[in-house]
Amino acid sequence: CGIVGYVGGQSALDVVVAGLKRLEYRGYDSAGVAVLADGGLAAAKRAGKLVNLEKELVDRPLPGGSVGIGHTRWATHGGPTDANAHPHLDNAGRVAVVHNGIIENFAALREELAERGHDLLSETDTEVVAHLLAEEFSSAGDLAEAMRLVCRRLDGAFTLVAVHADQPDVVVGARRNSPLVVGVGEGENFLASDVSAFIAHTRSAIELGQDQVVELSRDGVAVTDFEGAPADVRAFHVDWDA
Ligand code: GLU
Repeated sequence: CGIVGYVGGQSALDVVVAGLKRLEYRGYDSAGVAVLADGGLAAAKRAGKLVNLEKELVDRPLPGGSVGIGHTRWATHGGPTDANAHPHLDNAGRVAVVHNGIIENFAALREELAERGHDLLSETDTEVVAHLLAEEFSSAGDLAEAMRLVCRRLDGAFTLVAVHADQPDVVVGARRNSPLVVGVGEGENFLASDVSAFIAHTRSAIELGQDQVVELSRDGVAVTDFEGAPADVRAFHVDWDA
């Protein structure tokens, strides 16, 4: 339902949770975050309102890091439980992904992954993406390329945002039939399903087009199509109060 991603010099957790609050008006049933820190990936997720997640983050604090992603979920596949909340991780816990939309061919992909020995822990359509990204990353060695390869295998509507502990300086996003916007800062960049998540930080934005992948670092925004060709994007200034 709501998605936020951050890479920069601030506490990713603070930026992401504040961004999720700005998206609360859209309605949701669960919330979660993941941050890259100390060479690893740490995640927390809870069914219910954002206060449940915030309480969890007080009870079990995550390490501080400056790259992170967050999600508010409106369940379509699998009930609103902690296990079904996003982010979803691969079995090694190295990649985390959040998703808006519906992956229509998830059942076939789940079966295929189970046959290859993956252990799927939720009832969501989303979880297959974490496992597929982990597989593709292990050969491609690059999260944006892994995302392009995975997206070419997905049917349906999706905004996806992911991080990988083995490429700890980037956040990668992708979209088809579902919105994704980049917020361009100085030494920091944002990804969100809606500009209201980042206008407290920047009003310089880029709207991703259909079937595009974006790789975000502190100082860079690189957009391609699903085949890897550089893509045209629409830059704009948010001059309204979102
Ligand atoms: N289909 C996904 C799920 O049920 C994402 C739902 C959403 O857009 O929040 O987990």
